[in-house]
Amino acid sequence: MLEPIYGSEPDPSKLYSLKCYAHEPYSFAYYIKCSFDDNLSKLQIYRGENVASIFIQKLEEEMIWMYSDYLSKVVEMMPLTDEQKRHFEETSICHICEKLIEHEKVFDHNHQTGAYRGPAHMTCNLNYKEPKYIPVVLHNLSNYDSHLFVKSLALNKEELNVIAQKLSMPNNFAKRKDFLVMKNLN
Ligand SMILES: [Zn+2]
Repeated sequence: MLEPIYGSEPDPSKLYSLKCYAHEPYSFAYYIKCSFDDNLSKLQIYRGENVASIFIQKLEEEMIWMYSDYLSKVVEMMPLTDEQKRHFEETSICHICEKLIEHEKVFDHNHQTGAYRGPAHMTCNLNYKEPKYIPVVLHNLSNYDSHLFVKSLALNKEELNVIAQKLSMPNNFAKRKDFLVMKNLN
């Protein structure tokens, strides 16, 4: 949305540039993709005033919800089915590092769902930690859109890490230099 800017008149006898309009954002949309339960994936759309601050506030609420309801909890492994037991017995490749397991084969499971994931080396299983951040990928941010809400990020009291980087993904993301925003969840 373009808002007119009213200011003093420039001197027409000299060269000048005049700011006539300011670009005010009026809507946003984001999509949350859950990796372990697609019922938790959702699209959120907002139209109205105070877009920048509401966008940051909504993202924070989503992160707190994801962390307190799911990521901070560890679900015990569900009882194995006969097929999963057979898979564990017959598989000698670690599903994490994909190398041969010669000693100490252990069960690895998803801590959010309790589902069995496969056999693993004990060290791989211990080192396989859930990340302490939630990545947010923003389209076209480095080109223009960051100007619309970066001030709201800066005003936020919580720790928020903004990493400007070229993502090393083998798809279109790598060409766009999108930002990756991550929040510490300690
Ligand atoms: Zn391994």
